[in-house]
Amino acid sequence: MPPNYGCNGKGKKSMRQPAHWDLDYDVVVAGYGYAGGMSAIAANDDGAKTIILEKMRHFGGNSIVSGGSCVASANAGETLKYLRRMCLNTTDDGVLQAFARGLSELEGLLTRLAAEVGFQTKRERFVWLPGKERTQAEAMDESVPGGAAYPFPGAESLYTVSVSRNEAYKPFLWTTGTKAGATLFRVVHEHIKRRPIDLHLETPVKEFVTNEDGMVLGIVAEHKDQRFTVRARRAVILCTGGFEHNQRLQSHYLQIQNVVSMSPLGNTGDGILMAQKAGAALWHMWHLHGSYGFRFPDMPIAIRHAFRGYRVNSKLMAWIIVDRFGRRFMNEYPPASQDTLIRSLEYYDPDIQDYPRIPCYLIFDEEGRKLGPIGEPRSNDESFTYQWSQDNLREIEDGRIRRFGDIEALAGHLKVNADALQETIARWNKGCRLGSDPDFMRPPKTMMPVETPPFYTIAAWPIVTNTQGGPVHNARQQIVDPYGEPILRLYAAGELGSLFGHLYQLGGNNAECFVGGKIAGSNAAAEEPWC
Ligand SMILES: Cc1cc2nc3c(=O)[nH]c(=O)nc-3n(C[C@H](O)[C@H](O)[C@H](O)COP(=O)(O)OP(=O)(O)OC[C@H]3O[C@@H](n4cnc5c(N)ncnc54)[C@H](O)[C@@H]3O)c2cc1C
Repeated sequence: MPPNYGCNGKGKKSMRQPAHWDLDYDVVVAGYGYAGGMSAIAANDDGAKTIILEKMRHFGGNSIVSGGSCVASANAGETLKYLRRMCLNTTDDGVLQAFARGLSELEGLLTRLAAEVGFQTKRERFVWLPGKERTQAEAMDESVPGGAAYPFPGAESLYTVSVSRNEAYKPFLWTTGTKAGATLFRVVHEHIKRRPIDLHLETPVKEFVTNEDGMVLGIVAEHKDQRFTVRARRAVILCTGGFEHNQRLQSHYLQIQNVVSMSPLGNTGDGILMAQKAGAALWHMWHLHGSYGFRFPDMPIAIRHAFRGYRVNSKLMAWIIVDRFGRRFMNEYPPASQDTLIRSLEYYDPDIQDYPRIPCYLIFDEEGRKLGPIGEPRSNDESFTYQWSQDNLREIEDGRIRRFGDIEALAGHLKVNADALQETIARWNKGCRLGSDPDFMRPPKTMMPVETPPFYTIAAWPIVTNTQGGPVHNARQQIVDPYGEPILRLYAAGELGSLFGHLYQLGGNNAECFVGGKIAGSNAAAEEPWC
């Protein structure tokens, strides 16, 4: 038996051209998140007869549950410097150049799309926009400029754009906890509805149809156990998202173990496997946009902790985190906490032959409990509608968070050395009094002592928000083989093979869906039909 990757096309070769095609289009788009939506809009608007095939019963993928912010650029040249440092030689320069150009046009694109269907965009965190002073970034006591996550050269050129919710917004009823991401999706979906773009739900793309040279001629899809073929006279665009729910791919590509995902269940890396079978090179497979958070046996989707987006240096964070020995091991609140935090949990201890930080444990006190919810559930699936209580009391009553009268009892529950944990907490509390964290440099105004009983703890696990890896693409969004040669008539957009290969820029994945989707859609539509 061949190994089961939870994947699509079985058998040794791609399917060859059938005698009869069931459906006939110019451009076939696989997956309907932002990337699939933008690709289809661009392909349609450039004259291609376009179809979107979406695997799940509900469209939206990660996109619909996202924070909806898109990074944009006030100066493409400066942004290119920033992107080069962000990606640190992991991404071809042509791809970064195209992205920097696209970011400088992104506000215009989003504003036009939004206005056409009754919405407005808003700018945030800008430093350099003509005639504007630095605004929100300063007000939030940031340590880095503008919309940049890190203080690299060119950082001042970045800002963020999102769509404001107004009376034109109609909710997507199967989602939970959705914010500006759903508003932006409403804009995309209104555009899809207004165009002659066919959308098929519950219809996963299973494999490509290719000729003997490997050129992609179409795809095989499935609906309710019925397979059918779709001819793509011009091209196929893969927008199938990441491998947040493919454990086998994760065990092959990630150093870290026991990663749990907060993404929709349909993101199982199908596009990666199909592209590999067509001969694609892969990149950035190790790279996760991820943090720490919570998993519970009765929930299919993990819940990440509630501190998202840019760090606010003056915002109190209730907890510290300790490993299985009762020691702190990281700054619990780094600059872009949903980017790099997961990496701190990766440490493998060769002496104990295990990961001492998986799980790790949040510890906070009664004052911290009252600060606000520690978890933030979101979902694109009506089977998961959990809402975290504002004061964390429901989770305490349900036993998800455990309560103890003193630290010794809490240590006993965690099976960590009580003296070590007492020492960790005493050192932390002293740091809070002095206003410094000499061990991990957590910003002083985010520090809060753990001193008022009762005390609370909850196990935390590595959480993937989204993966970045997938097929390598060039500046035209064509998927390429290991030698950089395009696989003919095959394109990608979105987080499937994202360009972020070292650090993640907040708002960057969504921006990539729109910038890359537009490039992919237009280039796909411009292909000469093969028949
Ligand atoms: C909670 C959360 C918040 C986030 N906030 C932000 C943010 O504010 N800014 C930002 O830039 N990024 C953010 N991100 C990341 C960003 O949302 C994603 O990277 C981006 O939305 C990915 O879009 P996509 O179109 O590439 O993939 P997705 O939106 O995931 O869509 C992929 C679609 O493909 C479908 N699919 C899978 N396999 C197949 C198949 N075989 N056939 C057909 N369809 C298939 C899936 O069902 C899915 O609908 C966030 C992510 C999460 C989870």
